[in-house]
Amino acid sequence: MNIHGLYACTLIMLCINVANYPAVANQQHQDTLRIKIDPKLKLKYPCVDSLLQEMIADTQGVFQRPVFVAFFTHHSLRIFITERAMDTSIGAQTACHGLNNGHINDTILLNRLFFAGNGSKEYLASLVIHEAMHAYINWCKVLFVAKEPGVDSSYLQARFPLTWDSIITGELTDEKQHVIMSVDLVDTMITIMKRYTNDIGHAKKELLAKSLAWGGLYTTPKWKNLSKDCRLFVLEFLSRHMDLPKLQTVYPPDPCTPFIAAYRDVYKLRPICH
Ligand SMILES: [Zn+2]
Repeated sequence: MNIHGLYACTLIMLCINVANYPAVANQQHQDTLRIKIDPKLKLKYPCVDSLLQEMIADTQGVFQRPVFVAFFTHHSLRIFITERAMDTSIGAQTACHGLNNGHINDTILLNRLFFAGNGSKEYLASLVIHEAMHAYINWCKVLFVAKEPGVDSSYLQARFPLTWDSIITGELTDEKQHVIMSVDLVDTMITIMKRYTNDIGHAKKELLAKSLAWGGLYTTPKWKNLSKDCRLFVLEFLSRHMDLPKLQTVYPPDPCTPFIAAYRDVYKLRPICH
């Protein structure tokens, strides 16, 4: 059992040369979102496809939220969401493939091993949110470097008040992106994540969303303080292990005390096909 499974986020190739960044509009954007779900997901994993469709249609979700919608509707952008089998320590990956026929392609790869019964609906939603943030950060860098209108230092300072200089300075590694998320994006990620949790009351919803939003950010300095709250660790772990028998004892790292898998029922974590 892999206690410390994290998201791995691999930027295969940095994209170059993009078109103008559009202004943010206020209408419903689903028709202009540049996101395509692999058709085979609907055939092989209809519950996964269904959740992705729900997230894409959500006007306050990650893709249509006003703060991000200009990115996800950019006319040259193509985001493709698909799956593959990966090590269970990896939840998902994001790959940027560069230019292709004038389009800039990002692929979000979800680990199919979590579709087979281990992963929860909440966990899958958190993966999509996390990878979408990688795509957004990558593109802010690319657009800035290309000197495209709309993404200048003022834009970056407004969107990333505490980390904007790290975006434009040096290589934008996965680790750096996680720090950026942990400082300047995680509150928004938590707010979005709450939309995909069950009806469990405000306090539990907040804690569960916080746990899942921080799931891929355990190596960041900011996590060190939060990690004292073992519930955050435990809930993220359980969201990836829906297959554990309810009475099974799980032993997290010190100083957390053992817990039983039935703890997930308090937060009404749902299997992906539920
Ligand atoms: Zn990541």
